[in-house]
Amino acid sequence: MQRYQACQLCPRHCGADRTAGQTGFCGEAAVCRIASSGAHFGEEPCFTGTHGSGTVFFSGCSSQCFFCQNHQISLGHQGRAVEAEQFYALAHQLIHSGVHNLNFVSPDHFWPHIEQLCRRLRAEGETLPFLFNSSGYQSPDLVPRYAEWMDIFLPDFKFAEPDLAQACMRDRRYPAITLEALRRMVAAKGFLEPWDPEGGALAQRGVLVRHLVLPGYVENSLAVLRLLREEFGPLLPLSVMSQFRPVELCLERQEIDRTVTPVEYERICNLVEELGFRNVFLQPQFGDADFLPDFTRDDPFAGNRKHRR
Ligand code: SF4
Repeated sequence: MQRYQACQLCPRHCGADRTAGQTGFCGEAAVCRIASSGAHFGEEPCFTGTHGSGTVFFSGCSSQCFFCQNHQISLGHQGRAVEAEQFYALAHQLIHSGVHNLNFVSPDHFWPHIEQLCRRLRAEGETLPFLFNSSGYQSPDLVPRYAEWMDIFLPDFKFAEPDLAQACMRDRRYPAITLEALRRMVAAKGFLEPWDPEGGALAQRGVLVRHLVLPGYVENSLAVLRLLREEFGPLLPLSVMSQFRPVELCLERQEIDRTVTPVEYERICNLVEELGFRNVFLQPQFGDADFLPDFTRDDPFAGNRKHRR
């Protein structure tokens, strides 16, 4: 709990005393809150396999992007408080349901709880991979600590342009911070392996970087690709996602308020090819709308229900 006092768990370093009930930029105090958990089939096939990825979605987020596809929980803070024992029971339930991994989504602001859980599970001999599924906006200094417990890092790289980062999540340092965090993730775990885009062999360890294409910001996506190619070379595992759907706040602000067009996505795919990236998930079908979540439902993803049938 000490780490929730004068909190420094993310790059905002806002110093909130979360143990006293204060909430920082992430909007969460020291009580761990979870919005949803279950076998999820909306990730890349190497994580979902046949039985799903065991996702745990936390309430709140240190990034606070206004266009967030999970806005009900990241900005709206839906979720319920869980004690350590309940968190442990929930993880056990997931593991026993046969999922292929435990997938912690937006984990940094509740890291002390997650670390405690992972320590306990590993001490009991649990071997399934643990995933750190994040916005990429992590304090680089904390990455080695995450890497002690996590097998797989699944970070986004959203913005190469500081001005766009400032406009969307109010921190123009995002590109520099995220790039440094990615360097440390790759140094700790290497690239994702085994690499099997069809999901026949499940991912066990390493880093896969995701980039969500934003409509109207193709130049940002192209800059992200160039930066990643320059920094990590053509073998970096990448997922270039076209699935963006505008949420309420996008429509209100009249910003990023449409979907990605085929022409926009094609330009990005062309650069992926030109730069020689070899280990890439592309999304030519623009995603499955059934995986746009509604966290007011028991299972927020209609797509998961289809999978289970
Ligand atoms: S995790 Fe939350 S409280 Fe802690 S520094 Fe980040 S935004 Fe502030």
